[in-house]
Amino acid sequence: MGAGIIGLTSAFRLAQSGHQVTLFDPTPARGATWAAAGMLAPSAEISPGEESNYEMQKGAVSAWRQTAADLLAVTGSTLEIHDTGTLIVGWDASDRRLIDQFAQVATTFDADCRPVSRAESPDIFDRISPRISEGLLLSGDAWLDPDQAVALLTQALEQLKVPIVREAVLRVYGDADGVVAETASGSFRGATGILATGHLGLPTGAVSSGPHTIRPVHGVTARVQGIDRANLPTIRAFVRGRTFYMVSRPGGYCVLGATAEERTEPTVQVGELQRLLRDGLDIVPELETARVLESRVGLRPASPDLRPFFERLETRGWAWSSGHYRHGVTLAPIAAGHALAFVEGGA
Ligand SMILES: Cc1cc2nc3c(=O)[nH]c(=O)nc-3n(C[C@H](O)[C@H](O)[C@H](O)COP(=O)(O)OP(=O)(O)OC[C@H]3O[C@@H](n4cnc5c(N)ncnc54)[C@H](O)[C@@H]3O)c2cc1C
Repeated sequence: MGAGIIGLTSAFRLAQSGHQVTLFDPTPARGATWAAAGMLAPSAEISPGEESNYEMQKGAVSAWRQTAADLLAVTGSTLEIHDTGTLIVGWDASDRRLIDQFAQVATTFDADCRPVSRAESPDIFDRISPRISEGLLLSGDAWLDPDQAVALLTQALEQLKVPIVREAVLRVYGDADGVVAETASGSFRGATGILATGHLGLPTGAVSSGPHTIRPVHGVTARVQGIDRANLPTIRAFVRGRTFYMVSRPGGYCVLGATAEERTEPTVQVGELQRLLRDGLDIVPELETARVLESRVGLRPASPDLRPFFERLETRGWAWSSGHYRHGVTLAPIAAGHALAFVEGGA
């Protein structure tokens, strides 16, 4: 239930392993997945005391390579994983102090992280404001295009004969014969059920057996055309204490992100977009003449401790896969592994 990146990847893994799968979603891949930039950035996401999160994300990047190989085998098309790394820069002296602090933490992990300067490596500073002459290069990071991942997963599911029922599941339950998902048009039976409903959490009938709850964390990315930094590192910046990133795809398409606010309306406010674009203009002045294509908004599914979980529910036969917060694209193949273990009786 739920055809965001978590549900799609899980359904693919299950179907490819020989299980019969039905996926439910009234608006497939239009949740948080729609807004995501697609960074697979274990190193840039390092934070103090979070070694296990770092290791999990590194494992997830490897798992995406396997998923890409599996998708190629089914669809004949390549899901591109771009190993560009990340360049972290700071706008002013206090932002550069934040980078120094980050570097101190990163060196206690095994991250491939080194200081770089414009004088030594002018290429990677291409299009970046001339007032920025130093940064930190994280070589292990990558990115993929979530739209491409969704398109290939959807194509693979079609080829594996997985129906996508374009309806919301209104109620779930389980009995001695298996699980039931009820939609407006009827009841669907199965052996097991997995909820991958992102920030929308549990539907009627689903009862958590653990401490998990989900809150939405609002985020916006802006899509622009006209800055070609293809194959160069994703830029991450501290700008007057705020964070900014720019993922550059081939052909001059860039994803600028991302805002983070504790609100639930899936709307883009002028102020948040203005702050995002202003920070972008400071770091990459040539954005002045780039064309704005669109902005996308999504609600990240955040658990109280900001960690993902895969929970067997009290409701018989059902499990809940959520809490992927800022890392759901990265962690999707890991969630898919949990889904397979659950269905095969191991989780
Ligand atoms: C601005 C932004 C930028 C991000 N950038 C990155 C990034 O660079 N890298 C990264 O790893 N992660 C990133 N993320 C995080 C990532 O997008 C999320 O963690 C991930 O998309 C969560 O996936 P999901 O499938 O759980 O949720 P969603 O994508 O929200 O999908 C949930 C789906 O469930 C469906 N659903 C809900 N209720 C029901 C129901 N009752 N019946 C049927 N279907 C239902 C919804 O319609 C929806 O399609 C970003 C998020 C945002 C908002």
